[in-house]
Amino acid sequence: MRAVEKGTNATVFTHWNEARNPLVDKIGWYCSYCEMSVRQLIAVEHIVPRDNGGAPLAWENFLLSCVYCNSQKSARNQSRTGYLWPDRDNTDFAFGYNKVDATIALPGPVTPEAEATIDLMGLNRMPGSAHAPTERDTRWIHRLDAWSQAEKCLSIWQNHPQPYTAELIAMVAAGMGFYSVWTTVFAAEPLALPIIKQAFVGTFAEQDANGLRVIRAGGVV
Ligand SMILES: [Zn+2]
Repeated sequence: MRAVEKGTNATVFTHWNEARNPLVDKIGWYCSYCEMSVRQLIAVEHIVPRDNGGAPLAWENFLLSCVYCNSQKSARNQSRTGYLWPDRDNTDFAFGYNKVDATIALPGPVTPEAEATIDLMGLNRMPGSAHAPTERDTRWIHRLDAWSQAEKCLSIWQNHPQPYTAELIAMVAAGMGFYSVWTTVFAAEPLALPIIKQAFVGTFAEQDANGLRVIRAGGVV
């Protein structure tokens, strides 16, 4: 799950939908949870649900979500506690991605929180698995499409490892979404990987003075 930096916003919103465009400017037209590119009907998502006392108009309580993650999550979490959040945590450290399982919780100190997060949004739904998608849930189709395109692009890159190739691939990646699929497929390509990462607006990857990622301020990983 891509860690994002949405910054602060002092606007006094009268409806949460007014925060959509400012959020998109900061973190792009992507679902904050499943990473799908959402060009239509992207929703301003309340991290702590309004039904559970979450602030309805507070920037701090907003992310962007696809209809599938939004409806699966619903009001099932009482608070942020016990889960990982891309605006608070280094979520890219906690999840792994492959074609079969979609999303897995990596071994480590926050594995329980990662597993709870996967369950909350149904991020591991795949046909033939114990977590079958509902008929209307098409996230897995788009994720597999991104895998396919990323693997084709990797082959093109390895045959033509030129900066302009990486730039074009980065444009394809940013258009399709699924940041973690692209960064997983290109993980062993140090010349192309940073260019692809840069194409996704609002990715959080702050480093300390020694160039290391550290536990995020306010986060648990
Ligand atoms: Zn989603």
